Amino acid sequence: MSAAKRTADALIPVTIPIQNQEQTRTTCPYCGVGCGLRIQRSADGRLSVQGDPEHPANLGRLCSKGSALIDTLGLQDRLLYPEWQDADGRIQRISWDTALDTIANRFARIRAEHGPQAIAFYASGQMLTEDYYVANKLMKGFIGSANIDTNSRLCMASAVTGQQLAFGEDVVPAAYTDLEQADLVVLSGSNLAWCHPVLFQRLQAAKQARPALQVIVIDPRRTETCVIADQHLPIAAGSDVWLWSGLLVHLVQYGQLDFAFLERHVDGWADCIAAAKIAAPNLSTVARQCGISEESLQSFYRRFAATANVVTAYSQGVNQSSAGTDKVSAILNVHLATGRIGKPGCGPLSLTGQPNAMGGREVGGMATTLAAHLSFTPADRDCLQRFWSAPNLVTGPGLKAVDLFDAIADGQIKAVWIMATNPVVSLPNANRVRAALQRCELVIASDFVRHTDTVELAQLRLPALAWGEKDGTVSNSERRISRQRAFLPAPGEAKADWWALCEVGKRLGYESAFAFTNAQEIFTEHARLSEFENTGKRIFRLGALAQLDAAQYDQLTPVQWPITASGEGRVRLFGEGAFARENGRARMQALTARPPAQPLTAAFPLVLNTGRIRDQWHTMTRTARASKLNGHQSEPLLHIHPRDAEHYGLQSGQFAALDSHWGNALLRVQCDDGMRIGSVFAPMHWSEQFASNARIDAVVNPDCDPQSGQPEFKHTPVRVQAVPMAWQGFLLTREPLAAPPRCRYWSRIPVVACTRYEVADSERSDVTTLLSAIFAAESMPAGERIDWGDSARGAYRAAWLQEGRLQACLFVAPDGGLPERHWLQSLFGQPSLSMADRKALLSGRSSSPVAATGAIVCACFAVGELTLRQHIRAGNRSPAALTRVCQAGGNCGSCVPALQRLIDTELRQQVSA
Ligand code: SF4
Repeated sequence: MSAAKRTADALIPVTIPIQNQEQTRTTCPYCGVGCGLRIQRSADGRLSVQGDPEHPANLGRLCSKGSALIDTLGLQDRLLYPEWQDADGRIQRISWDTALDTIANRFARIRAEHGPQAIAFYASGQMLTEDYYVANKLMKGFIGSANIDTNSRLCMASAVTGQQLAFGEDVVPAAYTDLEQADLVVLSGSNLAWCHPVLFQRLQAAKQARPALQVIVIDPRRTETCVIADQHLPIAAGSDVWLWSGLLVHLVQYGQLDFAFLERHVDGWADCIAAAKIAAPNLSTVARQCGISEESLQSFYRRFAATANVVTAYSQGVNQSSAGTDKVSAILNVHLATGRIGKPGCGPLSLTGQPNAMGGREVGGMATTLAAHLSFTPADRDCLQRFWSAPNLVTGPGLKAVDLFDAIADGQIKAVWIMATNPVVSLPNANRVRAALQRCELVIASDFVRHTDTVELAQLRLPALAWGEKDGTVSNSERRISRQRAFLPAPGEAKADWWALCEVGKRLGYESAFAFTNAQEIFTEHARLSEFENTGKRIFRLGALAQLDAAQYDQLTPVQWPITASGEGRVRLFGEGAFARENGRARMQALTARPPAQPLTAAFPLVLNTGRIRDQWHTMTRTARASKLNGHQSEPLLHIHPRDAEHYGLQSGQFAALDSHWGNALLRVQCDDGMRIGSVFAPMHWSEQFASNARIDAVVNPDCDPQSGQPEFKHTPVRVQAVPMAWQGFLLTREPLAAPPRCRYWSRIPVVACTRYEVADSERSDVTTLLSAIFAAESMPAGERIDWGDSARGAYRAAWLQEGRLQACLFVAPDGGLPERHWLQSLFGQPSLSMADRKALLSGRSSSPVAATGAIVCACFAVGELTLRQHIRAGNRSPAALTRVCQAGGNCGSCVPALQRLIDTELRQQVSA
């Protein structure tokens, strides 16, 4: 679609009555792909979600998380009113006026006594651009503190810094369509299939249509993304600068540099090449540092050199490193040196994790930036000060996320306002973060969830809007601005974040600066600032959007910035140079390769890598509400190579303690031959709300990249140790427990019609002790209890029924030989259990021929691994064949890589049998 057509489309109404039905166009709140959605309200009020076929990011596609969004909308565990928690933990409902007066008064006092830097703000890539803009304006322009940082620091700060160094501004030069137009796509540190699933689907479809399109995956783990890879380079964690410097040297040797582009548009290239030759003098050095063979390295280099149209898409595997900025620079160096930038099918493409990480960058949501891509130079500060009429504009950058929480721990920061994020779970060295908040004089949390590990520590809790109630804009990884539109009313006293921020601004005496009455007024001020005294030096421009009236803002269709005054958006940049540095030229960076910050030792001999799983999002506050998303990985799993598992005496299904210098966790073991030997992987999602001790960032080291401040989530030295359990089991219960089980290991997940707890303990218990460990006295299910026990073996089964209806069932065994959960879960849907069902319950075997399904692979149709293996053995040897026979993969398509991997595994096993 042309930019002109898009501009014309801006007048299409977005709420369309269709035969008693209403449709609202909005945007997915999860990952940085930024998929467009259509929310349909049927005549009986039921909501459904579809991918928007007209949204350029997804063209109608959705992943499993997006498809399950409607299931996350309930009001259970919502924070609906402002609350105050006193020092004894007593919680009291208060009015908004009291809450806002308290914030303003305390901020004013702290600023007077300790200076503005004693006030901090911790924001989130979940916030809408309008909320972000007001938070940044209030802090940096009026309170006068630059100590406002964001969880985007954890996600893509290295990409920001790398782009600023190379291009002069934080600009992503490529677009999603380049993935489809490329002849070679290099995915570096990106599990695209799980973390940006719709982009994976687009790439997979492009490769199917044009098999000559090659895909190379660079990742220590063999992830599901590798099912479409022509080559996988399982490099050692932290070796990327050697890899990319070696490629630059190879390209020099084989005459592949674009000297015309370099001469016209790039500085620093001679120094950069000289440094690369020192870091990566020959193939064998690079292969040794990367821990891969020279042959595979050379194959990668040759493919890159031989292909004109190359996209390198990179993500957290590159950014989350103590050398993250250098890794990004190493990638950008290669693209600049070869002129592979700014052309169709060409360029580096940073993929952000969060839905509005880009929007936060636009408004200066990070401590190291100012709004509208202005910098801290005197001229830029003066420009911003005049635009805002700001009385207290900051003079320099503030503290980056990890340093900011250290300053809270040290008592330098006295008050922090945390908005839409959960740092007690997501920051490294997370126990120190928790301790910091426990000692902080004033912790304010704006959230829509009542119970998170962070909200529970806040004195002041402000009820925020949830996704379906929010109104504003987000920007995705390809610079595309889309509207997020409300389709639900605000419940209770939940309010927009920008409103709460403005009310505090007004109470501090800045009435006119914070007189916004709606999101459109904020957005157009943001757009006007992008144009203010912008002679073309700043690439970030919103041009025509600065003049949008309320109706035009409401009807805005997705558009990529920079946008000129005539409304044209730009798909890609820098093909003809015109970089944002003072002289209009890019700058290649001379790099020195260095190992991760923390070396492995005899005490901590393994590398811990952390990241996302397919069907959960961040700390599970939303995705865990959708039971269909909880079957894929129902527990926090520690992935370990089978050889390492054997060495440490571990087997799948058993438990392991994971220790580092900073903290520990207890996880269930999953042997995974896709792991690199010597490393383990654990998911980032589980908090204390969902498991006994799986908050993995308590284990992660707090070392950061010295330039970007991004933490090293991909490399923490750890040790693992088997934890023998005397028994393990599971509880299914219609009503969640009032308090978590008091056993060594537990995890909790909502499933259809009940909640599932997995439990285990290293102490053997009699029945009375066992039941009291699992149920607090007041939460033992009411009604008839039927049970069976084998005290010699230590096995026990029990079920609770009320008027014949199953209320709970508990299965415990010493060896983990436990029945199929999914069949038992289905019994909660029955109005009453037959005698046959009761017998089957206690025997742990279904009375009807219901096959065990295994762990859920296809979330949409609840198809499990064991079912799929049976279908594959019956001759269904392609994802399409599996879809035909059991529907798996036939809706959102997120599980298609898993289907392919299962097929490959089954066929390999058949060959070797
Ligand atoms: Fe949402 Fe999935 Fe699209 Fe990401 S890929 S924006 S999670 S639907």
